[in-house]
Amino acid sequence: MTAGADIIADRPWDVVVAGAGNAGLCAAIEAARAGARVLVLEVAPRHMRGGNSRHTRNFRCMHRGPMPPLTGAYEEAEYYDDLLKVTGGRTDEHLARLVIRESEACMPWMAAQGLYFQPSLSGTLSLSRTNAFFLGGGKALVNAYANTAEDLGVQILYEAEVTGLEISGGRAGAVEVSVKGREPVSVPCKALVLAAGGFEANLEWLKEAWGPAAENFLIRGTPYNRGRVLRLMLDAGAQSVGDPTQCHAVAIDGRAPKFDGGIATRLDCVPFSVVVNREGRRFFDEGEDVWPKRYAIWGRLVAAQPGQVAYAIIEARSRELFMPSVFPPVEAPTIEALAEKLGLPPAVTAETVARFNAACRPGRFHPTELDGLSTQGLDPPKTNWARPIVEPPFLGYPLRPGVTFTYLGLKVDDTARVQREGAAFENVWAAGEIIAGSILGQGYLAGFGMTIGTVFGRIAGREAAAHVL
Ligand SMILES: Cc1cc2nc3c(=O)[nH]c(=O)nc-3n(C[C@H](O)[C@H](O)[C@H](O)COP(=O)(O)OP(=O)(O)OC[C@H]3O[C@@H](n4cnc5c(N)ncnc54)[C@H](O)[C@@H]3O)c2cc1C
Repeated sequence: MTAGADIIADRPWDVVVAGAGNAGLCAAIEAARAGARVLVLEVAPRHMRGGNSRHTRNFRCMHRGPMPPLTGAYEEAEYYDDLLKVTGGRTDEHLARLVIRESEACMPWMAAQGLYFQPSLSGTLSLSRTNAFFLGGGKALVNAYANTAEDLGVQILYEAEVTGLEISGGRAGAVEVSVKGREPVSVPCKALVLAAGGFEANLEWLKEAWGPAAENFLIRGTPYNRGRVLRLMLDAGAQSVGDPTQCHAVAIDGRAPKFDGGIATRLDCVPFSVVVNREGRRFFDEGEDVWPKRYAIWGRLVAAQPGQVAYAIIEARSRELFMPSVFPPVEAPTIEALAEKLGLPPAVTAETVARFNAACRPGRFHPTELDGLSTQGLDPPKTNWARPIVEPPFLGYPLRPGVTFTYLGLKVDDTARVQREGAAFENVWAAGEIIAGSILGQGYLAGFGMTIGTVFGRIAGREAAAHVL
């Protein structure tokens, strides 16, 4: 059932959840299954519910043997090792291992809430062993969870923004909520679950961390994750984790919209490209590792370039090697002509490509595995897929940093309870992006955002209900 604004403040709710994305809905379902009376407050209108979760495609899942649609096995040691590689060790081992272990039980639980899975999609993100894909994508996941939650009696109120938290002595007594932009009302609650995402859609906050460069960032997901709840909690004395400049940011097509372009604007061509900045110069190893393990560093790399822009240049032979792009590439018969069309200095760009070509060595080019085909004597090197760019037409894509989600967040313990100096909040739990920094100090592993949200959302919902009942 969808709640009306009139009934939300009549008597205390057992559990109020802020945010109707993956983490919030998982929490709401678990709390309702435990017998709690649950209200979910969602700032977006109904058709935009699901925040960033509605853009997702898969989650990363531990498993000890084939578990359709997953192939093979993906056990704790390998999963944790993959996480260590991308975070450079900047993770909380206890919480990370908890998420990994608990991910094994998620798939059957998700299916029981009405979600269907499908085999992984082809393309450079070949994740058939590690990541379970949602049939119908994140939108289907959000719809299934919202339907299940409502069947369990959870009330979901849309266009309902959490604007204040009534917290004293480490205890939350009520949430202030503005419905459809009206004067906020106080909604009493016995327990609170915060799942209102990061602050990636708040350009002013991004600028505090990144400076004016943030003006050129594109935001891949919902315009509603503005960090309001996070800020309220930090102001209420919550301990923060994570670095404000750390986030999940990928290189996306520079022609994407400012907000909500979603997965369609991502470009998977980097491993087969030479990537130059607007001065026509290379700045990083495009072939460092397979794309699923490296795509998440490229947003930051582009963000560090002048004007926060870069250009991927490929040749005709590489055209079919990656997922088709939503915007067509810029094409030209020569590198100089391509550079001109892209607004790059033609002579420098052509020299960069020529130097790259001269540094390529003969060998077997294999697009779907680390082929070791590396450049020689080039700085920075390209360590795999270094095939000369010689066959016209030459193709180019502008790249911009596309911020997916921020990592600065609330510190939680292994029961998802929010921490403050020297103690925990008595009845406040958090899950999803808003706590991602507890586990992701830097870097990213494809599918791990939904895993964190599902595991911690479920824990938060169960713990909040257990506190009340
Ligand atoms: C394009 C894209 C593709 C992605 N693909 C994947 C993928 O395939 N796999 C993966 O694991 N991760 C993926 N991610 C990351 C993933 O989306 C997040 O990790 C995950 O969705 C976070 O879930 P959440 O519930 O914490 O946040 P969200 O799903 O963003 O939900 C937060 C909700 O809180 C609401 N909200 C915000 N402020 C308030 C307020 N003040 N009051 C009330 N409500 C509020 C928002 O409107 C939103 O609905 C992707 C992200 C993007 C942008």
